[in-house]
Amino acid sequence: MITMFIDPICKVHMSEKSDFVTEYGGKTYYFCSGKCKSKFDRLEKSVIRLKRNIGDREKISFGRLNKEIIKTGICTLCGACVASCEYVTFVDNKPKLVGKCTACGVCYNQCPRTITKEEDLIGKIRYAYAARSAIPGVKGQDGGVVTSMLAYALDEGLLDCAVVTKRSKDEPWKAEPVIVRTSAEVLESAGSIYTHSMTLEPLMSAIKQGMGSIGFVGPSCNIDAVHKMQTSSYGFLHLFLRARVLKFGLFCMDSFEHDGIKEFVESKGMDLNDIHSMKIRKGLFELGTSEGMKSYDLSELDQYRCSSCKYCTDMVSENTDISFGGVGTPVGWTTVLIRSSVGYEIFNEAVDSGYLEARPLEKAEMDRTINLAKMKKVQMYTLNRRQQG
Ligand SMILES: Cc1cc2nc3c(=O)[nH]c(=O)nc-3n(C[C@H](O)[C@H](O)[C@H](O)COP(=O)(O)OP(=O)(O)OC[C@H]3O[C@@H](n4cnc5c(N)ncnc54)[C@H](O)[C@@H]3O)c2cc1C
Ligand code: SF4
Ligand code: SF4
Ligand code: SF4
Repeated sequence: MITMFIDPICKVHMSEKSDFVTEYGGKTYYFCSGKCKSKFDRLEKSVIRLKRNIGDREKISFGRLNKEIIKTGICTLCGACVASCEYVTFVDNKPKLVGKCTACGVCYNQCPRTITKEEDLIGKIRYAYAARSAIPGVKGQDGGVVTSMLAYALDEGLLDCAVVTKRSKDEPWKAEPVIVRTSAEVLESAGSIYTHSMTLEPLMSAIKQGMGSIGFVGPSCNIDAVHKMQTSSYGFLHLFLRARVLKFGLFCMDSFEHDGIKEFVESKGMDLNDIHSMKIRKGLFELGTSEGMKSYDLSELDQYRCSSCKYCTDMVSENTDISFGGVGTPVGWTTVLIRSSVGYEIFNEAVDSGYLEARPLEKAEMDRTINLAKMKKVQMYTLNRRQQG
């Protein structure tokens, strides 16, 4: 049998070893000509340069690719990781590390399934702050920033009204979306209710009542409905309704069926009427009761999670004027991501007018936000449990 040698550049088959040789990654390559050899050597240098470049900035090992993409079953077997590293090969139809990984991150940065750009994780932002209310007595879910900004905008006449969600007076912890026109009314809507709220009905109602400038609060699924109305060719707000809607987006990992939360609370021997606060933080579901705070692992609520949330990948409400969340910043503060110029103006006016206190978001705070956003982008496939907040 004749052994054939294939030039890896021009793919010419050679019946014997040529004099144009390169050793790379423990293998010997033969070329038909000096031209092909120098092409290969140049490529090899580029890969080495790339490995050095990425590796200097951030250590990303094959382990991360394995954890996020291969083990989760979303690897497409495209072979980009195998092509980018001599230590990765296909074993049993899966990319596998067969040498010592230097955590250069090259394979991770070629894979079509990884997310490597900050913008792809948290959308476009202009400024990021940590903020909290400066209005005495405001008790928000985190820093009370959404409520205080709306109060400022309503007091100043920048908004005619706002669509917010309050706790129903008839059924404890039932989300009730409402239109508010004054800062006194908006203060009553502070806090989060971890169920879906049908906010679009009051929005349409406000528009029909002739409100020209409306603040709208909701997590990304609600915000995206408004965004669609503003941007789709046949969207109401795009075609004939002339209202300006300022979108206040809430970070969101999940929400639960109202009846499910009720069942859960009752299974712990309590009544929803006796729960005065609810908070999700660092993978825990915390209930404020007259006997103090009770904490449960969030996974205990898995069965009550709304089905749409399992397929939702936008944690930070990417299509907003401003997004707000608790992750990243200390207890009592809100993480604020400003995306539009009008959002920036109103936020800063509220700070200057003494409604809010703010400072730039620190890098570690932003990193925690990005990590949670990333977890949500991939949880669609992995249903990873979140452990940070
Ligand atoms: C279902 C849900 C899940 C969330 N998950 C996360 C999370 O995983 N990580 C994170 O960092 N932040 C999450 N948040 C956002 C967080 O709870 C706070 O709303 C946010 O940090 C703003 O805090 P604040 O004190 O500035 O807001 P506040 O001043 O307390 O104002 C909160 C505003 O949210 C409105 N609101 C309350 N419940 C709803 C609802 N169900 N639908 C629409 N609007 C509502 C209120 O009307 C109010 O205007 C979630 C919010 C919700 C509603
Ligand atoms: S390219 Fe190779 S060395 Fe670099 S991270 Fe991937 S497996 Fe490790
Ligand atoms: S680059 Fe990503 S998708 Fe392609 S084979 Fe490797 S792990 Fe799978
Ligand atoms: S996880 Fe997504 S779909 Fe579920 S409530 Fe939050 S934004 Fe809406």
